[in-house]
Formats: sequence, C-alpha cells, structure tokens
Amino acid sequence: TYDVLVVGGGPAGSAAAIYAARKGIRTGVVADRFGGQVLDTLGIENFISVKETEGPKLAMALEEHVKQYNVDIMNTQKAVAVREVNGLKEVELANGGVLKAKSLILATGARWREMNVPGEAQYKTKGVAFCPHCDGPLFKGKPVAVIGGGNSGIEAAIDLAGIVEHVTVLEFSDTLRADAVLVKKAESLPNVRIIKEAQTTEVVGDGSKVTGLKYKDRTTNEIHQLELAGIFVQIGLVPNSEFLKDTLELTNRGEIVIDAKGQTSMAGVFAAGDVSTTPYKQIIISMGTGATAALSAFDYLIRN
Ligand code: FAD
Repeated sequence: TYDVLVVGGGPAGSAAAIYAARKGIRTGVVADRFGGQVLDTLGIENFISVKETEGPKLAMALEEHVKQYNVDIMNTQKAVAVREVNGLKEVELANGGVLKAKSLILATGARWREMNVPGEAQYKTKGVAFCPHCDGPLFKGKPVAVIGGGNSGIEAAIDLAGIVEHVTVLEFSDTLRADAVLVKKAESLPNVRIIKEAQTTEVVGDGSKVTGLKYKDRTTNEIHQLELAGIFVQIGLVPNSEFLKDTLELTNRGEIVIDAKGQTSMAGVFAAGDVSTTPYKQIIISMGTGATAALSAFDYLIRN
C-alpha cells in the first residue's frame, strides 16, 4: 500500500512525486508514458530559470530527478478505473493489476484536439503548433493561421497579432463562438482576418516545414490556399479523465474539479496539472499544482 500514489508522469506528476517522497512517505508513480506532453514538444523557452530546452531533454530531467528519491516508477501502465474500498483508494490498471494507496494524486494531463487532415501529423512541431504562449515567438514577422473561432482561437489570434506579421482565423461554422469582447478586439486589429465557414482540408509543406494550408469555402465548395509559416490549431484541449467520469466531479469539458489545495470531490484524492480545473495549461503551472497536491496529500495523511 502506498501512502501517495501518483497517476501520471508528466510535469505535474513528477513534481507531486518528488514533493511526496521528500516527506519520507511511500510514494509510487504510475504512468502510461512517463514525460507526458513534454515528449511531443520541441523548444521550451518559458520554463523559468532555464533559458531554453527541448521537450525530450526536459522529460529525461524529470525522470532523473524523480529517480533521486525512493519512488516506485511504473511506466507504460494505464489506469482504467479508480475506486474506494474499505477506506483505501484502488487504481485498476489496463493489465488487470490493482494498486492500493491511502491517497491519490491524479495528474493524467490532456491532449490537444487535432484536425485530422493530411499533413497535420507530418508537420507537427514543423509549423503545426498548438500552444501560442509557447510557440508564438517562433513565427515572429511571419504569416500564420489560427484554426478555430472559440475563445482559445480568438485569444490566440489577438496574442499572435502582436508578434507575427499576419493572422488568418479559420472558423468552420458561420459564427464565432468566442466572447463578443474578444471578437470585437480581434476584428479591430489590422493584421487579423477572420474567415467563417472555412473547413481546413490540408496542411501544405515543402517536406521539412509548413508553407501553407488549403481550406474549403463551405458556402461555395471552392478550395483556397493560404501561404503560411505556422498553423495554430485551437479546437479544444481534451483532459485525460474518461476513466474517472463515474468516480469524481468533472466539468462538462471533462476537467477534474479541484479547490485551491488540489482537493477533488473524493476525500484523499487530489488532482493537478492539465487534467484539472487549474487555469492556463503550462509546464510551470502543472509543476506548481503538482507540488500543491502532494503537500495537500501529506496534510490529509497526517490528519487521518
Ligand atoms: P501531461 O504532460 O499531459 O502528462 C500526463 C501524464 O499522465 C503522462 O505521463 C501520461 O502518459 C499519463 N497518463 C494519461 N492518462 C493516463 C492513464 N489513464 N493512466 C496512467 N497514466 C496516464 N507548456 C509550456 O509551459 N511551455 C511550452 O513550450 C509548451 N509547449 C508545448 C508544446 C506542445 C506540442 C504541447 C502538446 C504542449 C506544450 N506545453 C507547453 C504544455 C505542457 O506540455 C503541458 O501544460 C504540461 O505537459 C502538462 O503537464 P501534466 O503533467 O499536467 O500533463
């Protein structure tokens, strides 16, 4: 039986594991893919105190740091259910195994929703980007597109307009779902163009990087091509919480609802990082909330 079992081995889970282990309590980490989203990231320039690094390098550093402590790391293991049995939390794994713990920290992260069009996968990190806070500066002075006219898409367009040469927003439907104040702001910017009823059909590149995209005008069925250096896909972030939907309170978007201490709707179960309601999904924020969850779990253990 673990004192603290962390589910997820990204920045949030790693921080939680280190903070828990430093209390001298029995700590385990179970992760589908240790490293998490960071493994799919190229340049990282906003992890404070590290001027620049690369995703796989940071993932390696996370694992090395966790291994400095007495933590059981169970990699390539997927959790499929969580339940409470006789006061203990149980985590059921895809391989049929069951892990038991006095407290749990859920840090299973999220994934960006993809367009699923030709070229998208090929040019990921080569012009196809998902995080304007992270990758916006890479496209300084160049033309980019934002796919999606919801709040995140329009926020991205406003953010990018200050950095890049020009932003084209492509929205599938005939209306933007973003808040009116954001739409008004975006429409007031001289270097932002919004195209509605535009269905992206292909990411175009030269073999090594993005050079543009093709979209279909849904009113005429005509195909148009834009010349671009970057494409920011902003059609949603999907929390990895499907396996918790009958156990914990989730928002309608699937985020685990937590309070300021990381406490979920089940006593002794905490959550952190991108899978939770913590605003702004970033590495440094995930790590901070992971540390919070571990300290809260320790607090829970000494009181129970
Ligand atoms: P994740 O990193 O998603 O880790 C989740 C962990 O849980 C993984 O180990 C996963 O395998 C595991 N897991 C999931 N489901 C299960 C399950 N059922 N059972 C067991 N394990 C499970 N942020 C920045 O701050 N700067 C950047 O430059 C930056 N660039 C980015 C670029 C890209 C392409 C992407 C995709 C993201 C980027 N981000 C960046 C965002 C950042 O990566 C995330 O905010 C951060 O990784 C979230 O950490 P996390 O630990 O909450 O989740």
